[in-house]
Amino acid sequence: MQYEAVIGLEVHAQLLTESKIFCGCSTQFGAEPNTQVCPVCLGMPGVLPVLNRKALEYTIKTGLAMNCKISPYSRFARKNYFYPDLPKGYQISQYELPLCEDGYLEIITDGERRKIRIKRIHLEEDAGKNIHDLSGYSFVDFNRTGVPLMEIVSEPDIKTPKEAALYMKKLRAILRYLGVCDGNLEQGSLRCDANVSVRPVGSQEYGVKTEIKNINSFRFVEKALEYEIKRQIKLINNGEKIIQETRLWDSITGTTQSMRSKEEAHDYRYFPEPDLAPVVVSSDWIEKIKKNMPELPDAKIERFIKDYGLPAYDAEILTEEKSLSEWFEEAVRLGGKPKEIANWIMVELLRILNEENKDITECNFKPSQLVELVNLVDKGIINRNIAKEVFEEVYKTGKSAEFIVKEKGLTQISDDSVIIEAIKQVMDKNPKEVDRFKNGEEKLIGFFVGQVMKLTKGKANPKLVNELVLKILKEQ
Ligand code: ADP
Ligand code: ZN
Ligand code: MG
Repeated sequence: MQYEAVIGLEVHAQLLTESKIFCGCSTQFGAEPNTQVCPVCLGMPGVLPVLNRKALEYTIKTGLAMNCKISPYSRFARKNYFYPDLPKGYQISQYELPLCEDGYLEIITDGERRKIRIKRIHLEEDAGKNIHDLSGYSFVDFNRTGVPLMEIVSEPDIKTPKEAALYMKKLRAILRYLGVCDGNLEQGSLRCDANVSVRPVGSQEYGVKTEIKNINSFRFVEKALEYEIKRQIKLINNGEKIIQETRLWDSITGTTQSMRSKEEAHDYRYFPEPDLAPVVVSSDWIEKIKKNMPELPDAKIERFIKDYGLPAYDAEILTEEKSLSEWFEEAVRLGGKPKEIANWIMVELLRILNEENKDITECNFKPSQLVELVNLVDKGIINRNIAKEVFEEVYKTGKSAEFIVKEKGLTQISDDSVIIEAIKQVMDKNPKEVDRFKNGEEKLIGFFVGQVMKLTKGKANPKLVNELVLKILKEQ
């Protein structure tokens, strides 16, 4: 029997508001524990929450970007449970009337465009953070308590672990373009719970799902789902039943472990929050937010393909980060050829940034510096391989490409006589190879070209070397 997976993701995104959702405390990350708290977010008796308008606006913005219907009337609800990081004993969330519903976002898998439906987006407050000390004590930090969160729930439209990662990436890109969430998975500003079940291929019914918590990277979304799908199929093949449960991803062992079963699940006893008035969103306000929407990743991908003639693959990579897409456009504006600039960014720049675990905003490398380097190649002043060396040097030192080429004497050798001299030297040193070539081993061309490049410290014009090596060997 062949099985297929059915996957739905629940993503929590911390909103980039300056203050918390129901009080004026700061949301700044990394402060001393319990320095950003007040009676409201500590849940003292008698306090009253006041809704942060910016948090509402950001959620509406997100809903619009993800093609949702924005509810003109929604409501907060109390979700009751006991946990040390939740001082009120309930979380203010939304339940039967969320702010946004019935949207979708698009992913591109294997060249195919797929819509993943969004079931709902609601607004809620974050809980605090428990810290378990090695000495055996536990502490709680309430700085995060009351930080605004959006919960974005997908329909179970995702078919593979790879698609789940693509969905996460697209979602993160949209949030970052909108400027509503920094998308930092490591710091927990974006958190994902993955729901997954399996069913026989062709079946219309859903199987029993499990929910995997504690996933904090795109790679782990894929890994955790791959593991869980295999585990479920194995159980079914052994004639056992899947039980509905919450499981924890353990990135060290690469496995998921049971956390609690459905029987142990909380009954949250949701009821409407009596301390907050229902949320009424006017169509005027929605229109105003719509008018101020930035260009989003999908539109930018289209435009890059159309205006710059880029392959879809390049357009997707260049638009993943807004800052990178702007960097690319600046280089093109300064005269760089789009495909050439795209190649340099994708092959060299992203490689270095990746090695240094930085993004484009954290380095001093300027679009003008890349354009200058590319011009040196175009004018034949340096060859492509040397250009890569110069690129690293420019990136590391901030010096201009022209200066580095002069300083290190890297100018390309395009003088026939110098190259011919080098070829003769190589032939003198390798008489056996010359003989083998004469006897028909044409592939030795590569050997001679390589040796000449080595002798000229990589500076010879490779095209010229190729032509001349062939010519001189054939004349033998
Ligand atoms: P619950 O009531 O258990 O929270 P929901 O209907 O709210 O379930 O769905 C939670 C998430 O689980 C959603 O992202 C949804 O797409 C996904 N989901 C629901 N049913 C399944 C299933 N059978 N297999 C995989 N994912 C599912
Ligand atoms: Zn507060
Ligand atoms: Mg649910």
